[in-house]
Amino acid sequence: MTIYQNLIAGEWVGSDATKNINPSDTNEVVGLYADGTAEDTRNAIAAAKAAFPAWSRSGIWERHVILKKAGDEIMARKDELGALLAREEGKTLPEAIGETIRASQIFEFFAGEALRLAGEVIPSVRPNIGVEITRDPLGVIGIITPWNFPIAIPAWKIAPALCYGNTIVFKPAELVPGCSWAIVDILHRAGLPKGVLNLVMGKGSVVGQAMLDSPDVTGITFTGSTGTGRRVASASIEHNRKFQLEMGGKNPMVVLDDADLAVAVEAAANSGFFSTGQRCTASSRLIVTEGIHDKFVAALTEKLKTLVVDNAMKAGTHIGPVVDEKQLKTDTDYIEIGRKEGAKLAFGGELITRETPGFYLQPTLFTEATNQMRISREEIFGPVVSLIRVRDYEEALATANDTPFGLSAGIATTSLKHATHFKRNSEAGMVMVNLPTAGVDFHVPFGGRKGSSYGPREQGKYAAEFYTSVKTAYTLA
Ligand code: ADP
Repeated sequence: MTIYQNLIAGEWVGSDATKNINPSDTNEVVGLYADGTAEDTRNAIAAAKAAFPAWSRSGIWERHVILKKAGDEIMARKDELGALLAREEGKTLPEAIGETIRASQIFEFFAGEALRLAGEVIPSVRPNIGVEITRDPLGVIGIITPWNFPIAIPAWKIAPALCYGNTIVFKPAELVPGCSWAIVDILHRAGLPKGVLNLVMGKGSVVGQAMLDSPDVTGITFTGSTGTGRRVASASIEHNRKFQLEMGGKNPMVVLDDADLAVAVEAAANSGFFSTGQRCTASSRLIVTEGIHDKFVAALTEKLKTLVVDNAMKAGTHIGPVVDEKQLKTDTDYIEIGRKEGAKLAFGGELITRETPGFYLQPTLFTEATNQMRISREEIFGPVVSLIRVRDYEEALATANDTPFGLSAGIATTSLKHATHFKRNSEAGMVMVNLPTAGVDFHVPFGGRKGSSYGPREQGKYAAEFYTSVKTAYTLA
């Protein structure tokens, strides 16, 4: 089998490899991907540092052309790359193709942004002096990504980093190197000068740690678990390095008595269980007022009965497998915790077998949960949802905000008053009205508050906040 190698200083290198396994069919090896070392990582950082002066001064048309070419190729290969994504991560083929299209759109967006770089010219408070405010690229950006969006998250970090003139050392998650390799290959062939984008696949504790330890990495953008996020933070402060963290969520969806039942059930089923509940924006807490509670539970349970859990590549599958054995154990441990805490298992909770051996788990709904239970406070990252009964809107809002996290929050209501109040008073970074808490646009800011995020927002023109450093220049006329 071919080994997909690391890209360091424009050369494909590496002979030790790890198997990339399909969670829908654990007999299938998706590919062999290089296992980078700490030395590979240091070489990649050195290459990125060496490439920075020229790339930071590259013309905006060159950046535009390369990003546009990448976006076009990803779109042209959406079915093939979507299939690779579904095979390595386990989300359904339509979801995977959708995510691939998203990645292409992100490259298109930043190809456009490259042509719109601008600064400000402002009069000084002193006579005969002019002030210019410009944005400089940051330097060498370390990109560390998780497994749940194998193509979209790398795209939304790589595209702005390049657009604003930075060079990159990119470390994808161990479980999903395939899509990352494909993106890097596409950008390399699109004409990036050597050393501008370096790929080092391998372990977080080896490759990731070597990035954290290097004084030459000027900025780190990280999406992943809260624990690793903290390590990124403390190591970065040590080096006076800029960093950006996207971590967990325990996103609430409030359902009020006046909600359109069908809209509420659709939004809850989608954001609670699609993508196997493995989205940081998934609704893992449904907060439902008394008047609609029983009707909502009955309708949601009926909906869950219709959802097909099976191989991600199979037509008709709604929910693919859990990503790996470790995550499956986390999910089943939390199901056990929920039972012991006294929540009522209203649906699911069991492992299932399918034609192909994989990590299949029923969508699982706990009702009669309280917001103090561990299943309502801790991020599970699986298709396991707690449903909490509340009296009224005020209690629903207080419960929604009573969490260490603050990524996304939703409300299902036909009341303009409550929708408006919720948008203003939710403590989350993203608020959805009559929509799933997951599912965001690519051209507007993405990010959370409280324990979910740290640093500037990602995506859209707000991405410039992280990937550039502002300079204020004064000139005597
Ligand atoms: P998850 O539990 O979702 O896999 P992690 O935070 O462990 O979340 O992983 C997110 C990313 O962080 C992955 O690319 C992983 O390899 C990387 N990572 C894990 N440990 C470290 C570390 N010590 N230093 C830097 N990166 C790490």
